[in-house]
Amino acid sequence: MEHYYTIQGEGYNTGKACYFIRLGGCDVGCVWCDVKESWDGTKYPLMSAIDLLKLVKKTNAERVVITGGEPLMYDLKELTKLFRKNSIELFLETSGAYSLTGSWDWICVSPKKFKKPLDEVLSKADELKVIVYNKSDFEWAEKHRLKVKSSCQLFLQPEYSVFKKVMPAIIDYVKQHPQWTISLQTHKVLDIP
Ligand code: SF4
Repeated sequence: MEHYYTIQGEGYNTGKACYFIRLGGCDVGCVWCDVKESWDGTKYPLMSAIDLLKLVKKTNAERVVITGGEPLMYDLKELTKLFRKNSIELFLETSGAYSLTGSWDWICVSPKKFKKPLDEVLSKADELKVIVYNKSDFEWAEKHRLKVKSSCQLFLQPEYSVFKKVMPAIIDYVKQHPQWTISLQTHKVLDIP
């Protein structure tokens, strides 16, 4: 759907320069989704993995974020094999709703209520990032914390459209449950893609 070299704005890898590749197509259907234009993958041209690699190589990027949409709707084995062979670090951002394919340096799972994540994907997560839209999301976050490995980094991130409303509750929650860290969408504040 789109690709660009920027700074990762949220989660564990915040602040790192990353080439973003956003794959079109998602059937998870989050009501607050901020990339609804990604849902219909047929609107976007197919690109080969080698052409994507050439775009990345034109920049100084050392790592690539594969995001969506829901990237695991595709089999990512060949793409990740090619990128890794070219010494590109690979980060995945997924809802976890589809089986994991490919080989990754970092897997961020952001579970969504609208199409639940698979346990097999949660068990491989290096980062669990739960979007908080209302207070019931804390319970949702804890439920999924039980399914990730002990080294998994835990983040609570306010849904941007209700940022001001939910932030006090998130601050409170993290003070009471310090195993969680707050993630903010700094790219939106900084106005970078
Ligand atoms: S999983 Fe991501 S792209 Fe899909 S609807 Fe939810 S927020 Fe949007």
